[in-house]
This record gives sequence, structure tokens and C-alpha cells, in this order.
Amino acid sequence: MLTTNLKDKVAIVTGSTSGIGLGIAKSLAAQGVNVVLNGLGTAKEVNAIRGEIERTHGMRTGYSDADMSKPEAVRGMIEASAELMGRVDILINNAGIQFTAPAEEFPVEKWDAILAINLSAAFHGIAAALPVMKKQGWGRIVNIASVHGLVGSTHKAAYVAAKHGLVGLTKVVGLETAGTGITINAVCPGWVRTPLVEKQIADLADQKRISVAEAATELLGDKQPSRGFVMPEQLGDTVAFLCSPAGDQITGTSIAVDGAWTAQ
Ligand code: NAD
Repeated sequence: MLTTNLKDKVAIVTGSTSGIGLGIAKSLAAQGVNVVLNGLGTAKEVNAIRGEIERTHGMRTGYSDADMSKPEAVRGMIEASAELMGRVDILINNAGIQFTAPAEEFPVEKWDAILAINLSAAFHGIAAALPVMKKQGWGRIVNIASVHGLVGSTHKAAYVAAKHGLVGLTKVVGLETAGTGITINAVCPGWVRTPLVEKQIADLADQKRISVAEAATELLGDKQPSRGFVMPEQLGDTVAFLCSPAGDQITGTSIAVDGAWTAQ
């Protein structure tokens, strides 16, 4: 049986009020990790998520409303979490947004926002967390990249550039921290049915005048040979595995969870 040894560790999961980040927060809490949540949402929504995690897993939660497009806010979130929780053992850089358009029509403000949230936020978070982790002699960083960190698709210039950048950042920090007790890896999911993808399914349904169910099947059929969506909980457990002692020597690399998308 896999032993994760994560009891009473402290994790920060960015973008954990929805989708994949929420799945990761729940998986880590199930392993006995106290979790600082982050992301957009009303106080009522955030409190409901915190309450559910605390009741289900008996772990402590925190929440930061830091805007991941703001470097100082990202760094401030790490410092405030270290102060509030006493330590930072695990950092999951997950917050992300999407926008699709051909490169020559791609709005500059969308390019800037995607690069800031999907790539630069991870850099700022890592830079602020590393000194804390080095002092502790242990740390785990997981960057939620994408299959689009490994291959391209049309109309996703900013997203693909940001995710390839995140995979590159993972390699560099992996080299810089090797042997320190800190590991850093990228997880590269294929299609996961979250609000971020729901919009792309709805757009496809509109564009082709087909039902949402047909559009979802077509989306999968186009790219993901397994024909099944990846579940947020499966990504949560992939992250828990990387944070476990089994992951001690897994660093600077990428794990695709993509139903064979990138095997083609
Ligand atoms: P989602 O839209 O369900 O969740 C995104 C999260 O990021 C939310 O909690 C949102 O509040 C938060 N967020 C957005 N902008 C923010 C900001 N400025 N500051 C703080 N938080 C912010 O999307 P998801 O599908 O769960 O995506 C999570 C990550 O997984 C993203 O990095 C995405 O690129 C990646 N990913 C998703 C898929 C997929 O198929 N859904 C596939 C591969 C990779």
C-alpha cells in the first residue's frame, strides 16, 4: 500500500475554489494535510468549501484571496500562509485561465493575463516558498501544467506558451533544488471536465449546432484516445503520490495524465 506520510503537513493550493484545484485540496486533506485554499469566489462559497473539507477530513483550512495576476499578492500569500500555519510544505501552482483565438487576432490583454496567471504566478510562488522549504529541509512543489505544456493546439497561443514555460520552469528549479529534500514536478492533464472546459464544450456545441453531450464526445474524440475525461480526484491522487516518499527522487519532470493524448 502507498504510504504518503503527509499527516499534518501544510499545503497551499492556488485556484482551489473550483475544478482541479479543489480536487487536489480534497485529496491532500484526505491524506491529513492542512490546506490553504485560494481562488475566486464569494465568502459564502469559500466558507462552504472550507466547512466541507474540515468536516470530512478533520483538517485545518485557510484561505487567501490573492489575485494570481499580481506578483506581490502571490508572494504575500506565501508569507502570510507560512505565518498563519507555521510552515509551508507543499505548494501546488494550479490557478489558470483559458482564452482561444487565432494568434493574429489574440487580444493583447488576454495574452498578458494568461501569461501572468498560468506562468508568472508559479514563478513568484516558487521564489517565495523555496526559502521556507529550504529552512525546513523538505518541500514539494507541483505545477499543474497541461498536455499543452508538451504539445500545441490551434487557437491557444498564450495558453500553450504559458504551459510550455511552466514545464521549463519545472526543469530549472528541479536542477537547482536537486538533493535538498525539495522536489518539483509538472502534472500535464488532458481534458478534465471543469468550468474551464465546459465553456469550450458549449462553444463547440454552438459553433456546430449540436448538443452539449455530442460536443463533449467530439471534444474527447478529437484528442483523447481513452474517450474518457480525467477526474479532478485522479489528479489530486497523482499529486498526493508525488508528495509521498515514493516521489523522493521524482523531480524536474512532467507526468501526463491524458488518456494517451500525447502518445500520438
Ligand atoms: P477552473 O476554471 O475550474 O478553476 C480555475 C481556478 O483558478 C478557480 O479556483 C479560479 O477561481 C482560479 N483563478 C482564476 N483566476 C484567478 C486569479 N486571477 N487569482 C486567483 N485564482 C484564480 O479550471 P480547471 O480546469 O480546474 O483548471 C485548473 C488548472 O488546470 C489550470 O491551470 C488549467 O490550465 C489546468 N488544466 C485544466 C485542464 C482541463 O481540461 N480542465 C487540462 C489541463 C490543465
